[in-house]
Amino acid sequence: MEITMKVVKLSHPNYEYDVHSLVKAFYAEDQVTVITPETKPEKLAELEPQVSLEIELAETGAKIRVGEEDFLWNAETANLADGYKNGLKRFLYRTLSKVTGQELPWGNLTGIRPTKIAYGMLDEGRSDAEILDFMEQSHYVSEEKALLGIDIAKRERDLLKEIHYEGGYSLYIGIPFCPTTCLYCSFTSYPIAAFRRQVDAYVDAVIKEMDYVAENFQDKVLDTVYIGGGTPTTLEPEQLDRLITALKSKFDFSTVKEFTVEAGRADSITR
Ligand code: SF4
Repeated sequence: MEITMKVVKLSHPNYEYDVHSLVKAFYAEDQVTVITPETKPEKLAELEPQVSLEIELAETGAKIRVGEEDFLWNAETANLADGYKNGLKRFLYRTLSKVTGQELPWGNLTGIRPTKIAYGMLDEGRSDAEILDFMEQSHYVSEEKALLGIDIAKRERDLLKEIHYEGGYSLYIGIPFCPTTCLYCSFTSYPIAAFRRQVDAYVDAVIKEMDYVAENFQDKVLDTVYIGGGTPTTLEPEQLDRLITALKSKFDFSTVKEFTVEAGRADSITR
């Protein structure tokens, strides 16, 4: 499949991330690049002739040009109770929706867990109908997804009720290896091929540290356990087994509500 490029020209570096995420949501198959006045001149020279969407921001609103057509937003008359950024995201969503003839199931929500909104509103004592209305009107979330968000938020609340915010603790175990290192990675991750010989020693060290934690946290309740990384499933099955067996023998799992092992790389998973 041929990948087409969508170049978006944004008049100000503010909101670059939000604009990129939302445009990408509409053009999932395309490569989306946002250029701003801060883009390097040589990159600008290369990309500017290919601009297909131009966004001009002003305090009083914004203008979006798609091809020959201009779309205008007057921020002064809009209800901006939730700020300029959200107003702009609604405008961008409406414009892209008009241009592409698409609605997105999660509306203009990008960069936020949808349940976070529902969760916060439930905490404020808002009714399901109010939350549904807010998600539909402010973020163009479909009814189906908004109801799903409310349902999940309620389940999360039930689970979190049992967490010991006082006297409890969570355990995080980091396995800093991956099959290979992704270019965009910002985590602590080392390619397994280069470190294979040190992995057993690393697991030994983690187990030693478990002894320390288990002893020093005896009078606290263990709520959650998370093995992350890197990619923990990069370990050989027997290494992961050794780690988990040690973990379960040293800690009381009867109070654990969540036990997660990240397995983000399909090429690292065995049955
Ligand atoms: S799989 Fe995740 S942790 Fe590993 S290199 Fe890629 S982004 Fe980083």
